[in-house]
Amino acid sequence: MIVIKTREEIELMRESALIVSKTLGMLAAEVQPGVTTLQLDKLAEEYIRDHGAEPGFLGLYDFPNTLCMSPNAQVVHGIPNNTPLQEGDIISIDCGALKNDFYGDHAYTFAVGEIDPATTQLLEITRASLYKGIAELKVGNRVGDVGYAIQQFTEAEGYGVVRELVGHGLGKKMHEDPEMPNYGRRGKGKKLIEGMVVAIEPMINMGTHRIKQLRDGWTILTQDGKPSAHFEHDVAIIDGKPEILSTFKYIHKALGIDSDEEDAYRQELLVV
Ligand code: MG
Ligand code: MG
Repeated sequence: MIVIKTREEIELMRESALIVSKTLGMLAAEVQPGVTTLQLDKLAEEYIRDHGAEPGFLGLYDFPNTLCMSPNAQVVHGIPNNTPLQEGDIISIDCGALKNDFYGDHAYTFAVGEIDPATTQLLEITRASLYKGIAELKVGNRVGDVGYAIQQFTEAEGYGVVRELVGHGLGKKMHEDPEMPNYGRRGKGKKLIEGMVVAIEPMINMGTHRIKQLRDGWTILTQDGKPSAHFEHDVAIIDGKPEILSTFKYIHKALGIDSDEEDAYRQELLVV
């Protein structure tokens, strides 16, 4: 069952999403060779609590930490540890926060120092695919339209779209209906409706779409050992159109990336 949110509830959800956005922005400056994912996890937990929220993942389904930290061939759900990040790594940081009874949940894949051109392209295409999917998130469309857009765009580059893990409805629960796969067929699946809030999160592999899971019961990684990227936004449907509640602008400010890029994507959404 899809839980529809009122305008007031969506504004509360925007607060939760922005706490995550700011946490990721704070972390962006700390992602450097030599830092461990466990150190970053502690920083994030402190930051979230200092901002009047609670970590959304900690204890959820018994997950042991505040952040899912998934470097290189890890797709998602990696557990923070004491291994230092190295120059040339990529690291997906997925963060959740709970405030006013609503969850925020979004993610960004960071480069650690300089990375090779092929991996840079994987990050850029995956981030762009997120917006391609979001552009389809409007009344009159169906769940399959979103997945189709992401799949077409990324498979055209020869990348693999992870099947087993998907985006999801978001609200007072971290995972609500509907599931939002990053693959699909035009015009298929549940109808998209006014007032729904979803997390769109393409998980895109440089090679095969196939995955495996570590014995820790959490970590998902690519079967062929090639890198995987992951970007996620929280999006509401308001006035029939997608409204992105989270933002990468704090990350991009910290990284010195021209933040007009995100605005350009948003403009693109308006004309779709
Ligand atoms: Mg997430
Ligand atoms: Mg999610």
